This record gives sequence, C-alpha cells and structure tokens, in this order.
Amino acid sequence: MTASRTQVGIIGGGPSGLLLSQLLDLAGVDNVVLERRSRDYVLARVRAGVIEQGVVKILRAAGVGARLDREGLLHHGVEIAAGEARYHIDFAAQGASLTVYGQTELTKDLVEAREARGGTLVYEAGDVAIEGVDGKQPRLHYRKDGVSHVLGCDFVAGCDGFHGVSRKSIPANVLKMHERVYPFGWLGVLADVPPVLPELIYASHERGFALCSMRSATRSRCYVQCALDDDAEQWSDARFWDELRARLPAEVARQVRTAPAIEKSIAPLRSFVAEPLRHGQLLLAGDAAHIVPPTGAKGLNLAVRDVDQLAAALIAHYRETSDALLDEYSATALRRIWKAERFSAWLTSVLHVFPGRSSFDRRMQLAELDQLASSAAARAAFVESYTGAALLS
Ligand SMILES: Cc1cc2nc3c(=O)[nH]c(=O)nc-3n(C[C@H](O)[C@H](O)[C@H](O)COP(=O)(O)OP(=O)(O)OC[C@H]3O[C@@H](n4cnc5c(N)ncnc54)[C@H](O)[C@@H]3O)c2cc1C
Repeated sequence: MTASRTQVGIIGGGPSGLLLSQLLDLAGVDNVVLERRSRDYVLARVRAGVIEQGVVKILRAAGVGARLDREGLLHHGVEIAAGEARYHIDFAAQGASLTVYGQTELTKDLVEAREARGGTLVYEAGDVAIEGVDGKQPRLHYRKDGVSHVLGCDFVAGCDGFHGVSRKSIPANVLKMHERVYPFGWLGVLADVPPVLPELIYASHERGFALCSMRSATRSRCYVQCALDDDAEQWSDARFWDELRARLPAEVARQVRTAPAIEKSIAPLRSFVAEPLRHGQLLLAGDAAHIVPPTGAKGLNLAVRDVDQLAAALIAHYRETSDALLDEYSATALRRIWKAERFSAWLTSVLHVFPGRSSFDRRMQLAELDQLASSAAARAAFVESYTGAALLS
C-alpha cells in the first residue's frame, strides 16, 4: 500500500476532470486525476462536437484554445427540416455563433496540456472508493497494477460521468434524482465524407429523427433515431445511409455522400439531474451530476461551465480563504443546469417520433416548428438557448 496527498482529488479523466485539473493547476492548486480507463481509450472516445462561444472562452483561458481556434468550424446558423419543409435559423442577427470541434480533439488538447505541465494523471486506476467526505480529510482508495493506494485530499471532485462512483457515494437520504428515460436511442455514424450542408441540419420525419452534424470539413457525424433494443451491428453502412436519406428533404438527401463508418454506436437518451451537487467535501460536476439528451448539444457545454464555476470556487477557497462560492456552487450550477435540461427536453420532444404518438401530437410538433419559422421572438428564444447565451448564469 502507498499513501500520498494532494489538495483536490479528481475522479474521472474525461473533459470535466481534465479541465478542472488544468484550471486548478494554473492557479497553483495541487491536484491528482484518477481515471479508470487507459490513456488510449480516453483519447479515442467519440462523443460531442458543438461548442458554445462562452465555453470556447473558458477553454482559451485554460490554455487549450489554440487548435480549437485554428481548426474549429464557426457556425452562424442551423437548419431544421420537417418532411420537405426547411427552416433556417440565423444566429448572426443576435451576434451569436457556435464552434464545431470534436470532443475527441478537445480531450487530446486537454491531455497534452496536462502532460506538458507535469500534471498527475493516473490511468487504469481501479476500484476507486471515497472515504470521509463528511469530515475535513477525505481519502480516495484505488488500485493500480495490483497495488493499493490511498490519496488524502481536502476536496474530492466527482467528474466520473453518469456511471461513476462519486454520485453513488452520497447517502440516499441526501441525494435527490430527477430522471426521464426516452423510449428510443440515437444510432451515430462517423465517416470521412464532407458535411451534407455547411451547417447542422436536424430533421423531424415520420420515420424518426435524423441529424447531420460534422467534425471537420472532411468528416461527418450523422445520427438516426433507432429502437432502444437495436444493435449497431444490425445496421450495415448501406442501411444507415439509406435511412438517413429517407428522413431528409429530397434536395438535401441527394447531397449525402457515403463512406464506410469509422465508428458506429447507439446511445440511449436520458434527462437526469442529481441534487445537491455538494455533499461535505465532495463536489459533483459534468455527467456525474446531470445528463441531457444530445439533441440540444448541451452535455459537454454544461460540463465545461460546471467546472469553470467549481474551479473558481476552489481557487477562492485556497487564495482568499473564502468559501462563499463553494457554498453557492450547487444552487447556482443547478439553476443553469435546469435551463439546459428544459431546452434539451423540449427540442427532443419536438423532433422525435414517440411510440404511441397520436396525429394530434404530430400536429403539435409541426406547430412548434412553424412557430419557430414564423415568429422572430420564438427564433430569438431558440438561439439564446441553443447557442448558450441563456445559460450564462
Ligand atoms: C455516447 C455519447 C454521445 C454523446 N454525444 C453528445 C453530443 O453529440 N453532444 C453533446 O453536447 N454531448 C454529447 N454527449 C455528452 C458529452 O459527451 C458529455 O456530456 C461529456 O463527455 C461530459 O464529460 P464528463 O467529463 O463530465 O464525463 P465523461 O466524458 O463521461 O467522463 C467521465 C470519466 O470518468 C471515468 N470514470 C468513470 N467511472 C470511474 C471510476 N469509478 N473511477 C475513475 N474514473 C471513472 C470515465 O472513464 C471517463 O473518462 C454524449 C455522451 C455519450 C455517452
């Protein structure tokens, strides 16, 4: 058994844990990241790709914005289709934009930045267990290469995603969980074909939802709504591209170019919030605390904003010996999180085919989209939420 100490013990080396580690380190706060998976696994994971401008600023301030600024694609609008109808929603009128940059690339940038500053990232840390968060000296236990380790710390940051141990260590009589599980999933394909359109296109169709997104000028990330019990292996590349085309307006479908899938996977859709985000010295951030269905592209953005707020609170604790921000962390973050939950759940409800849906339900969806197309106020509210301007506090 080995024993060591740090100021903040971070569980999870995804975007939340890595960014928190970087922000704390830049402010001189010592920290250690414990990650269950290998470095290669973390670097290869394919997930989100749409980044809000406020989040880009946070990443720049963390010293990980250079490649994002060079290679990210700046978007000033988005398209929504319903059958053959196409609605363009312009962000520029509100001075807003989004940057398309893959989470895989951001993770690479964060890992490189941590390694360049000599950060302690412990990969393949197994059986992580949290002890003593009710007191002032919590401890993290883990196993690495068959050896048991104990890491003493002042605070534990639970950045270990939805399936991690952090949230589960909060007693059941303290933790409230709010959840909606959707009765369908998204089948996603990553392929080396140019984007179908210069901007993202979301499609609401009788056969189900579809989305054409991208990671670069030569790489597309496309999705179709699928059954929860579908197996990605059942979906040949040809079946996927045919289904995608069938759900897009004909003139867009004609522009779809196909290539073998580099990655193909099915993600379930869930809305979830845990409350509170603080229990004693344990603080939750990112997917450990909340999940949004990916329709609003909010998951990664929320995670970065949580971490920015949490880092500021921890830095104030060490620099100014003030705990005001730490005390407010849960309530302030939850207010922002619920706004993103609202938008993500709404957009999901408008665009997907729900089992047992009536013709009235479908007409309501189409009326929501018509409202977006015809009302400047509705479009302004959409842009505010979609680009993150409404989530600043
Ligand atoms: C399949 C999928 C597709 C997605 N697509 C989109 C999208 O299109 N748009 C969008 O905005 N968001 C999307 N998201 C959400 C977005 O990717 C997440 O919000 C984001 O990854 C959150 O980062 P995080 O660091 O909080 O959590 P994670 O990325 O989940 O990282 C948590 C880390 O903790 C580690 N860990 C877990 N348990 C332990 C443990 N016991 N001990 C140590 N380490 C542990 C994990 O290995 C992982 O590295 C998607 C998520 C998934 C799962």
